[in-house]
Amino acid sequence: MSRFARFVLFAFCPFFLSPFRLAAQQNPSKAAVTVIRAGKVVDVDAGRVLSNQIIVVRGDKIEAIGEALAIPQGAKVIDLSKMTVLPGLIDCHTHLADGARDGDPISQLKKTAAQVALESVPNARLTLESGFTTVRDVGVYRALGDVALRDAINRGYIDGPRMFVAGAYITITGGAGAMTGFAPDIQLPWDLHFGEANSPWEVRQKVRLLVQNGADHIKVLSTGAVLTHGSNPSSIEFTPEELQAAVDEAHHFGLRVAAHAHAADGIKNAIRAGVASVEHATLIDDEGMALAKERGTYLDMDIYDEECIEEDGRNGNTPADFLEHDRDLGEAQRQRFAKAVRAGLKMSFGTDAGVCPYGVAARQFAFMVKYGMTSMQAIQTATHNAADLLGKSDLLGSIQPGKYADIIAVTGDPIADVRALEHVSFVMKEGKIYKQ
Ligand SMILES: [Zn+2]
Repeated sequence: MSRFARFVLFAFCPFFLSPFRLAAQQNPSKAAVTVIRAGKVVDVDAGRVLSNQIIVVRGDKIEAIGEALAIPQGAKVIDLSKMTVLPGLIDCHTHLADGARDGDPISQLKKTAAQVALESVPNARLTLESGFTTVRDVGVYRALGDVALRDAINRGYIDGPRMFVAGAYITITGGAGAMTGFAPDIQLPWDLHFGEANSPWEVRQKVRLLVQNGADHIKVLSTGAVLTHGSNPSSIEFTPEELQAAVDEAHHFGLRVAAHAHAADGIKNAIRAGVASVEHATLIDDEGMALAKERGTYLDMDIYDEECIEEDGRNGNTPADFLEHDRDLGEAQRQRFAKAVRAGLKMSFGTDAGVCPYGVAARQFAFMVKYGMTSMQAIQTATHNAADLLGKSDLLGSIQPGKYADIIAVTGDPIADVRALEHVSFVMKEGKIYKQ
């Protein structure tokens, strides 16, 4: 690329505020140095725990980690010698930009876009303070609200995790990602049906629009959904041709695709189309598991959610049709999760945050262990594996020199009891401390 072309790209590209832009502006030689004395460090790349480590943070990056490192002069020293230190956690399936959490998406019609945006501020803060320094946000009802939230965090207007965003749901008319449940003669504003597409070419057009407007990845809905009126989780929505169009067009722009899918055939259609991850993967069958293994597709299974759907149901906060969709699916998904773990499939950590309250995503770790993972495997899904799914292993996912200083700490030993991660007491993102 010529220097002029590079200038034009950086000056006018809609990715101007993409997650890593601000960090690149810092001058490393003048950056502040912080040293963390860590009692224990979970080395998620090697799957082991190290003792008595010194972590040197310069500016927004990790400069060094080791047992007997010299502490640079003038460095600020943080004593975490009685704690276990881990890389910042990554939730690969969140919805931070839908405003205050309530049981029915139709509530979006009772709020202005500004209201939804401001209601989303605490969603971002609670997520970061609970130890999740990065999220892969996979869809928003009001298109591009997630882009705005990501950029507000990057500009320092509000506190939140580093966000990678989808911009909107790409979904069939009346599909799993559509706003449904209102009278047919009501015309929705553009941002509440931005991502509807009903042919391969319409899918390509939506991908192009989302790329143009700052999306970091593409989210498609391959089957019906639990939490959508008039939807059926066991129905197929996008055809194989439409899914292939989404993946092909996204790849033209270097973007990956996440596919929502509950039904077995919809899961296989998505894997065959070449998506990076299947979200939920609730009813994945043996053939689907073999395909995922062959293609290296991640399964991003939100196995804790059932607890919140049932609790909200008991409190009258979940619409009756959603509970009907959900019947038997929770346990079916957990059994398939256990099978996928035994089969050695690629697994990432995604909670569908927004179904459960924001800030409790770490509760899923204990369920991942209950259904067959070791604590280390469960932690790896939210660090090492999540960074790989994002295509950002060079910058995220472990405490290694050259990566972003996204560092958390807990009291206790999360390898002995993974529930220690439900109470994160130290949070650093890009070298800045947000909780101590
Ligand atoms: Zn979701």
